[in-house]
Formats: sequence, C-alpha cells, structure tokens
Amino acid sequence: MDFVVQGEGEQAILDIVEGRAQERVLRCRRLDNLDDLPMPAWDYFIHQPYNWGGDWFPGTPVFTMNTSRVCPFHCTFCSVGSIWGRKYTGFSAERIVADIDYLMQHYGARGIYFREDNFTVNRERTEKFCHLLLDRGIKIAWACETRVDTLDRDLVDLMHRAGLVTLYYGVESGSQEVLNRLQKKITLDQTRATFGWCREFGVKTPPASLWGCLGKHPRISSKPWPWLTI
Ligand code: SF4
Repeated sequence: MDFVVQGEGEQAILDIVEGRAQERVLRCRRLDNLDDLPMPAWDYFIHQPYNWGGDWFPGTPVFTMNTSRVCPFHCTFCSVGSIWGRKYTGFSAERIVADIDYLMQHYGARGIYFREDNFTVNRERTEKFCHLLLDRGIKIAWACETRVDTLDRDLVDLMHRAGLVTLYYGVESGSQEVLNRLQKKITLDQTRATFGWCREFGVKTPPASLWGCLGKHPRISSKPWPWLTI
C-alpha cells in the first residue's frame, strides 16, 4: 500500500491525489462541520454495476448516505469509539434534505439507507429532518440504524409519516443480565415497546447482532424467542 489514512479521510485523500501528503501514515483531525463537505461525486458511480437495490425499499435506485459520525454510547463489544473517537458530528437536517432532493432530481432516487451508527441520537435533528421532508412534500423511502432508547411512539410515528420504511436497531440479547454486562444501557421493555410501535406503523424491524446471528443458526433459528411475543 502507498498510504494509510487514520480518521476522517476527505481532506487526506485530497492531499494524496494533489501531491501534498508528506507522510505515508496520515492522521487526520476530526472535521468540525460536516456541512462543509461537498456531495460525493455520484456521477462517477451511478452507472457502475453496483447493487442499487434494497430488500426494504419499494423501488430502485437506493442510495446510501452517512450523515453523522460517532456514537456517544459505550457498549463494550463495539469498535465505533476506537475508530471515530468520542466527538459526535453530523450533517444538518437542511443539508440531508437538500442532498436527498438532489439525488431524486438527478438520479431518480427511490430510497435512502442511512448507513451510520445512530441516526436518531440527536432528536432535534431527526424531528427537523422529518418535518422538512413533510413540509416540502418530498416522498422518499428511507431506513436508518439506531438504539431503542432514542425512540418513542411519537418519534416513530413522525419518522414513518416522513417515509421511514425500516428501523435497524441493536437488540443484542434477550437477557437483561447480558445487556447489563455489555453496558448496552437498554432494557428488554424498551425493545419490546419499539417492536410494538414499528408493528403498529408498519415499519420493518430487522434487529441487529445476536438476533441476526441466532436467526442464521440452523439448530436454533426455528425456535421462538419467548420474550419477543409482541
Ligand atoms: S449504541 Fe450501537 S454504535 Fe453505539 S456504542 Fe453501542 S453498539 Fe456501538
């Protein structure tokens, strides 16, 4: 390899291709304002044979977006903190909606999958994002990843009305003792409640981690989870 880039790579890749990189290992400082970043050069990718679909979405193409960096929680098994550090940053709601509008106008985007650790950690941003989509009549299906303790019924309702089709959240375990040991800081009741709201509004729920692993296990995938009887 020619270079190793540690941290956020946008400025580093520019320094490398424009010949300014002095070291082969580039350690980058965190960006203060993600809204300063330009939109990805989608023209280079849109005609490439990538998978532009997604099982959760009603149509294609589906674009991935990353609108925040860092998760402020401290689950013991998670590497997010060691990759990003602890300073949470995110695009503004206005910038996210502007990017979605551009993707719809230029590429006919039908879905957005927010590929980040915790899309709803900033509730004010989440609500503003939803209201902007609703107020501007922007109809797009979207999915995001999050934690059950950053949601409540009103927020799931609002997100669903704004186009949310799938919530992907970390169930991790059906044992409160295991959750406590993992320092997940959620309760089984919070997880049950979130499944209930999603079912009520018709939002799909592919829960993450342990559930997903067990679901693929040939000897236990057919057994029901007694605590998940909602
Ligand atoms: S909530 Fe999710 S992203 Fe955040 S530390 Fe825990 S496992 Fe990692």
